[in-house]
Amino acid sequence: MFRTGEFMKLKGKVSLPTKILIGLIIGIIVGLTFGPKATIIEPIGTIFLRLITLVVVPLVFVSLLLGTAGVGDIKKVGRMGLKTLGYFIFTTVLAITVGLILANVVKPGSGLSPEVQARIQQTTESQSSIDLQRIQKPSTIQILVDIIPTNPLKAFAESNMLQIIFMALLFGTVITMIPRDKAQPVLVFLDGLNDAIIQIVHIAMKLAPYGVLALIASVTGKFGINILFTLFKYAVTVIGGLFLYGFFWNTLAVSSFGQMNPVNFFRGVREALLIAFSTSSSSATLPVAIDCLDRIGIKRQYSSFVMPLGATINMDGTALYQGVSAVFIAQLYGIPIGISGQLMIVLMATLASIGAAGVPSAGIITLVMVLKQIGVPLEGLALILGVERLLDMCRTTVNVMGNLACSVVIQRWEKGHL
Ligand code: ASP
Repeated sequence: MFRTGEFMKLKGKVSLPTKILIGLIIGIIVGLTFGPKATIIEPIGTIFLRLITLVVVPLVFVSLLLGTAGVGDIKKVGRMGLKTLGYFIFTTVLAITVGLILANVVKPGSGLSPEVQARIQQTTESQSSIDLQRIQKPSTIQILVDIIPTNPLKAFAESNMLQIIFMALLFGTVITMIPRDKAQPVLVFLDGLNDAIIQIVHIAMKLAPYGVLALIASVTGKFGINILFTLFKYAVTVIGGLFLYGFFWNTLAVSSFGQMNPVNFFRGVREALLIAFSTSSSSATLPVAIDCLDRIGIKRQYSSFVMPLGATINMDGTALYQGVSAVFIAQLYGIPIGISGQLMIVLMATLASIGAAGVPSAGIITLVMVLKQIGVPLEGLALILGVERLLDMCRTTVNVMGNLACSVVIQRWEKGHL
């Protein structure tokens, strides 16, 4: 039997992902050993979840606003900016579609015994009934009209993600239309605020091993080993999707649009992909990525435009992951997601991947907004947190791969020399 003291001693000696993994394993053992009694430590996990949820609204608003204000400058770059944005949006939607197809075919969240599923539903009964009503919103027109808030504070107070996103896009756009000397202080302030919010995420992630331990222990205690097999199926679906999309699409894009031999491409950028995998951060990978592109003949005028922009707003891997995760959690709770729900996932995951910063675990934070919008209980996050780091490493690799391929394509489209 493990002792908490031993776990605590690991602090400082072991890296965070390893600690989370250890937390996960200990959580499973505790859950299987103590059964439903393990739920006694659930509040530790809840505190961790609440810390993450706390930053969602400010993070989405501020980072999307800053991203949009940054894109505003792109107008100056004109044609190249539009091509890059078009490419980003196309690949993001393609990635989510691959994720949704896989999640609907593999159905990683179904197949639980009816008894376990009933228990899962029961634990969040009140919330899911409210949320189900939200899914069955009357008409598409009404949803579109409702995107414009009449009271911004109400939108924030109710965490109405579509309204918050609308305001971020609106403010981000208009800020580029006012005189520079007035816009600049606002942007500097928001940039600082953004860093502070990300700092809260870092603090929350320090608690992750304990949060994951508590959450997994209580989930395993309540629902038994069966749920772990389901979790495994989910992780395999995400990783399989990332591999399929990342490898096939980028090979196609580089060879056809970019007219570059994909073998040379992958060989040239492998260092950047490894750094992305090991840091789980598109932003941290930027310098190595640009260096790799130098070596395969992509000019700085393209790479230093596409890569930083891509690290902030283009995350194909994150989008795919969010698509699979939203459907998976809905399946766990037995919540049907129809065509309109799936389209909502495409829209929200596109925005959520744009809103996610290029730092570790940003994608799981903005996943909260996808779940909220389609009315899926946030408690479902507890389960996928256990495998979060591994999935983050894989999706960051695909995020960076997408930006690298985009640089090759844009240089070609701009008639640069390869
Ligand atoms: N870690 C990812 C990145 O930096 C973002 C995410 O969490 O999905 O690209």
